[in-house]
Amino acid sequence: MKKLLPSLLIVALSSACNSTYKYKTELTSSAEVKNIIMVVADGMGPAYTTAYRYYADDPTTAAIEQTVFDRHLVGSASTYPAPVSGYVTDSASAATALASGIKTYNGAIGLDVNKNKVETVLHRAKKMGKKIGVVVTSHINHATPASYISHNESRENYNALADSYIDNGINTDVILGGGWKYFIRKDRNLVDEYKAENFHYIDKYEDLATLPSDKPILGLFGNAGLPEAIDDSDNQRLLTMTKAAIPQLENPDGYFMLIEASQIDWSGHGNDINSAMAEVNDLAKTLEYLENYVASHPDTLVILTSDHSTGGLSIAANGSYEWRPQLLTKMTESTKTIAKYFVNNDVSADVLKGKLMGTEVSPKEVELITTAKSEAEKKLNQYLAMSEAEQKSKNKPNIQRAIQKQLKQLIDIKTNTGWTGSGHTAVDVPVFAFGPEKHRFAGSIDNTDIAKQIFNLLEENK
Ligand code: MG
Ligand code: ZN
Repeated sequence: MKKLLPSLLIVALSSACNSTYKYKTELTSSAEVKNIIMVVADGMGPAYTTAYRYYADDPTTAAIEQTVFDRHLVGSASTYPAPVSGYVTDSASAATALASGIKTYNGAIGLDVNKNKVETVLHRAKKMGKKIGVVVTSHINHATPASYISHNESRENYNALADSYIDNGINTDVILGGGWKYFIRKDRNLVDEYKAENFHYIDKYEDLATLPSDKPILGLFGNAGLPEAIDDSDNQRLLTMTKAAIPQLENPDGYFMLIEASQIDWSGHGNDINSAMAEVNDLAKTLEYLENYVASHPDTLVILTSDHSTGGLSIAANGSYEWRPQLLTKMTESTKTIAKYFVNNDVSADVLKGKLMGTEVSPKEVELITTAKSEAEKKLNQYLAMSEAEQKSKNKPNIQRAIQKQLKQLIDIKTNTGWTGSGHTAVDVPVFAFGPEKHRFAGSIDNTDIAKQIFNLLEENK
């Protein structure tokens, strides 16, 4: 707990007592930071937050409205991993940098390049008696949360990571996200083990409304990651989970919370601008909620950054000076869901127009989808006619995926969106902060500086 009085009060008291100027500046130099909320937007490079500004723009006004990202941008961070992995990071190495303040190899979870365990800001906060919350839209043992909670030589060891959440001693008071397949397994039921440790377990978003105040919480709402924001029963599930988690964490000693908008990265890997904007929107609504929260809780600091950018998103493509996000704001289904529909239903101009929320489609554009479907069907039939031995050496053609790929390309053409590839890119990422001491994250910094400053703030506010 912070032992100093709030700084404004100190100023008032010290002037009333005619204290020296030096006394005043020492005590007012650093504002109280009781709660720290670290938000990681996986894969959200600068093009995503800029794209979101135009996506969220009200076209009926002349002004381009500022977004919550615009309001709180304080600088940018470099993201390169340890030299052994070159310049382009993965999410594990970047999250280890954000959590522990060290550079490591791609794939490492909470380990340095020599595979030694490193302390994270979450561990330190826990040790200092703060409550710990983790809220993500991936599985809770995915690279980003795992790098704050645990240690492993590879992010791919999902079962071992899940096991470690219990075996290393539970260090979270509230943990929400996905992961049934890793936490409820034939060989081990970790949910039962959490329950034996007095955890209240829930598996439906509705249950978030009635959490007991006297128990730690485990909430798993999906097999692996949660459904995509655009398809989910709750399009703003990150916001819903965050709102439910915070009251559970509030206590006189404060809390540290990790929030991850995990699936912006997944949309980027899939070059799916429709899904990407829905994920960024869920994050933006969460941030707007936190913005209000900080206004009434001035001892809470919020920091947001990304671990890297994904897909090389480009706002305009093909030499044309236009980006048309209006279609995206109307969409209510993912390209995956639309593709699934067309696997079993004919593709017609009318139905396609309906799926694209009234956007006109040309006969040529309909043909792109029908051709993708019929070619995939042909390939599947050829595959099914093969002997078992022949089949083994080939991948089974997937009609739904072929249709989805063409649908995404169609949406890229309609919106004039560009992508450079399916992987991560090494561009610096934006850093946002609001609340006390936000200036410590300003300017051009490195991702490791974020952890270093959080460690400092934890120590200074003991
Ligand atoms: Mg992640
Ligand atoms: Zn990624």
